[in-house]
Amino acid sequence: MITFNDLGLNPMILQAITEMGFETPTPIQAKTIPHLINSENDLVALAQTGTGKTAAFSLPIIQQLNDNDDSVQALILCPTRELAIQVANDIKKYVKYSPGVSVVPVYGGESITTQIRALKRKPQIVVGTPGRVNDMIKRRVLKVGSLGWLVLDEADEMLNMGFKEELDSILEGTPDDKQVLLFSATMNAPVRRIASNYMKKPDDITVGNKNKGAENVQHFFYVVHERDRYQALRRIADVNPDIHAIVFCRTRRETQQIADKLIQDHYSAEAIHGEISQSQRTLVMNRFKEKKVQLLVATDVAARGIDVNKLTHVINYNLPERSEAYVHRSGRTGRAGSSGISLVIVNMREKYKVRDLERRIGKTFEQGKIPTGDDICEMQLFSMVDKVCNVEVNEDQIGKYLDLIKKKFEGMDRDELIKKLVSEEFNRFLEYYKNSVDLNTRVGSDKGGERSGKPGMLFARFRINVGRNLGFNLKELFAFLNEQPALKGVEIGNIDVMKEHTVFELDETFKEKLLTSFADAEVDGHEVKISCEATGLQSTRAPKKGGSGGGRGRRGRPRRNPGKGKRRRY
Ligand code: AMP
Repeated sequence: MITFNDLGLNPMILQAITEMGFETPTPIQAKTIPHLINSENDLVALAQTGTGKTAAFSLPIIQQLNDNDDSVQALILCPTRELAIQVANDIKKYVKYSPGVSVVPVYGGESITTQIRALKRKPQIVVGTPGRVNDMIKRRVLKVGSLGWLVLDEADEMLNMGFKEELDSILEGTPDDKQVLLFSATMNAPVRRIASNYMKKPDDITVGNKNKGAENVQHFFYVVHERDRYQALRRIADVNPDIHAIVFCRTRRETQQIADKLIQDHYSAEAIHGEISQSQRTLVMNRFKEKKVQLLVATDVAARGIDVNKLTHVINYNLPERSEAYVHRSGRTGRAGSSGISLVIVNMREKYKVRDLERRIGKTFEQGKIPTGDDICEMQLFSMVDKVCNVEVNEDQIGKYLDLIKKKFEGMDRDELIKKLVSEEFNRFLEYYKNSVDLNTRVGSDKGGERSGKPGMLFARFRINVGRNLGFNLKELFAFLNEQPALKGVEIGNIDVMKEHTVFELDETFKEKLLTSFADAEVDGHEVKISCEATGLQSTRAPKKGGSGGGRGRRGRPRRNPGKGKRRRY
């Protein structure tokens, strides 16, 4: 087995990481550390969060810092302030026995003057978010002309968060002979572009597969009615009494709403999102790390850089739009060798997205069953009994009250005492779940307004290559369908207009007519390509009627091109 000694690290670093409890290098460390010590080539490393990548890039950099150079020698760029702080804190621990080495984090949302003062103390390593780093360079308090190393940590997220311009501007002032290290959990076109624009023939290191979820995470999905989503979350929390989880929501508003509801329903929950102040966020994070908060409800952005090991679950209250985001979310659990569970709650019409996600990340999702009230009561009951059995008794403190307590229980036999003790804690679950329904069967049996109106009618699902990026929206799709005489009166099912494409369902008997209608269609000058993804679907959405008239052309509207071969531009 490879040890840290074998990797060529110096004794000061070895002492520091031994104290931190690092015994054997993680796979990314075993590959990256020798590379950085022995080679000056740029490096693209694909590794999930929680794989030990911070030590992988920072230990060899620390080892190779030039003692006689007091300029900034290494710049580490991170997508969020949370991650920047975390990386800087890790580095502080790694340099505990390396005399004279210092690191400064710079990030937005906190006093710039304090950070400027810190930079003036001449750190060799600066860790920062692109916005604040760029600002510091423009103010000439951060000089990057002598950089030996530039690290782009979680590069995919930096690009997702729109930091491309800042990266361009920062990189412009850096020397050509620096070594660039790019770390990313996923590989996609923008990351590849960064690698080809800013790096010189980088070597590749991959741990696990590209764009794949962490190895030791199990993935489950639960199908519920949209209106039962929150109840499903509650049940998942209730059936796991020792849950310590991040609950991912899509928007700040939803994050706050779900956290508020959970708190109102007596769960140990807090929210973090972009509108929470830095001090509040630090407070919440500390409470979550200390397990004083069980459920941390978060947006994707706010959760970046959260360094909490041994989470029991990651809960996707909603599916993220991109599979990369799911990889990041689920990578929050199953860290540093422990196993984890990532759960997705979907409604009926989102079920197919799970299959899509499976394909993209190469993992299988098992369909989970939302626990029934009985399952939960049983689980809670035994958890409580276990806790009573295992609780430590403080004989000294309780001793003086014992006689009085025994007197109170006088005349009560053992069985009665047990029943009363358990009921005291447990009645709230019994009460809450006494008339509860099975959320799983509700999905299958509900004949309400969400089902297809025409008995026996089936939908086919279509995908077109235009989405919100071209100003396309639901109204535009309806308008286009309405303009087609061949589609008069067609029933339309679910519609999902996404950033770069749209998926919609339509009465399957109109399939050929629809495909013909879209031949030669354009949106804002872009050729519309349509494909049929699936047929024979039962829709879960109240169907809408199409084919009721025309509409005027404008941006975002697909138009049939009347010219033969030639495409008209709008
Ligand atoms: P990272 O991927 O850098 O965020 O690291 C995830 C967690 O694993 C951090 O808490 C590290 O301190 C910890 N860690 C990193 N390397 C090792 C190692 N070789 N042995 C044990 N823990 C580690």
